[in-house]
Parts: sequence; C-alpha cells; structure tokens
Amino acid sequence: MTSGAGTPRILVVEDEPALRRFLVPTLTGQGYQVLTAATAAEGLALARSHNPDLVLLDLGLPDQDGMEVLRQLRLWSARPILILSARNQERDKVRALDGGADDYLAKPFGAAELLARLRVALRRTIQTEAGETVVAGGSLRVDLARREVSLEGRPVHLTTLEYRLLEALVRRNGRVATHAQLLADVWGPGGAGNTHYLRIYMAMLRRKLEADPTRPRHFLTEPNVGYRLELDASEG
Ligand code: CA
Repeated sequence: MTSGAGTPRILVVEDEPALRRFLVPTLTGQGYQVLTAATAAEGLALARSHNPDLVLLDLGLPDQDGMEVLRQLRLWSARPILILSARNQERDKVRALDGGADDYLAKPFGAAELLARLRVALRRTIQTEAGETVVAGGSLRVDLARREVSLEGRPVHLTTLEYRLLEALVRRNGRVATHAQLLADVWGPGGAGNTHYLRIYMAMLRRKLEADPTRPRHFLTEPNVGYRLELDASEG
C-alpha cells in the first residue's frame, strides 16, 4: 500500500488519549495517513478541510454526540464511516447503521479486527461502477485496489489529489463526471465552485498520463459540463 499513489487518509475522531495512542501507530504502521481529532467540532472541521477516505468515529465525544457528527458527515460525504463505541447495545448499533455508518466496532477491540474491518470498508470504495478494480486502455493502467498507475508498463507517481481525481473519473466507467461531482469527490465541501482546481489538476494528469498533453485521448473535456475518462481511445 505504501508504494501506491497517495495512501488512504483516515480521520480518527476519539477523545480517549489512550485509544488514540493505540490507533495512530496501528494505522500508520499499515501505511495509512492519519489525522486525529478529540472533539466533534474538531473532527467535522478536519473532515471538511481534508476530505478523508475513511472516518473512525467515537460515539461518546465531549462536545457533541457522535451520532450528530455522523449525520453531518453524511450530508456531503459518501465515504466509509466506522463507529467506535463503548455502548455495546443493539439499539445504538442499529441507530448508527441506520444513520449511514458502514460498520460498528465495540470497545475494546484488537488491532487485527480493526484492520480487517477497515480493509472491508475501504474495498467498497475501490471498485468502478461495474465492479472492476483494475482498468486499462491503450498504454494506461490503473489498479484501484493497490492505488497504482502505470503508463506503458512504467509506474507513474501521482500526488494524493491527482490520484483522487483520476479515481473519481475511473469509477464512472467512461461516463461524464460533472464539475460539481468531481469537486465534491476530490476536495469535499471545500471544493464547491472552485472549477479552476479541476483545470489545474486535469492539466497535471494530462502531463503525466497523456502521450501528447495538448491533444488528450484519455482525459476528455466536456465543455461547460465536466470531464470524462476514455480508455478505449486508439493509440497512435
Ligand atoms: Ca469517548
């Protein structure tokens, strides 16, 4: 996972210092990027500014109920949210799952169980709409599970944001993605309206992944609408 383009970014919202001390090295040891917040307010702010790939969310937070954090995240984010809670009661599990959580870990839990649940939750986000995890066309190949991109068989390094934009296009299987959809997928709510971000990052992707960036064959502009990834384009 560490060799891929941009490792998954995980936000931990947990007020217990001892649990954060356990979670941070466990996650960074697996190559994940980790952000931590000790309150609901801090967690929501970090989620908006960093658009994490997955959130580990404690229900018992000092300033606000974790259920409220879940509700607010689900207003704009479709990414996986795993609940961490000491309230090992069926009623809370059902409420959290009904509220849009992907899974629920009852404290105390071990590292192996946590990592297994994380992999399952992240796997759901690494498939195209057709259920594929590897797509290829012409000389370009993208492996969503490994986060690896290659051109003519050679690995290409992408930054986290470049990779997220590529992934957002790949997952749509050749369908057009609108500016608003791409901005939300890559930057979260902070991206709204910033269409110039897309122009900048699309230019970087074309420079790295098109044979002739001035005459793109894969990364196509749909004027006034958005962008589309064409993998069947003939080379030459
Ligand atoms: Ca707590």
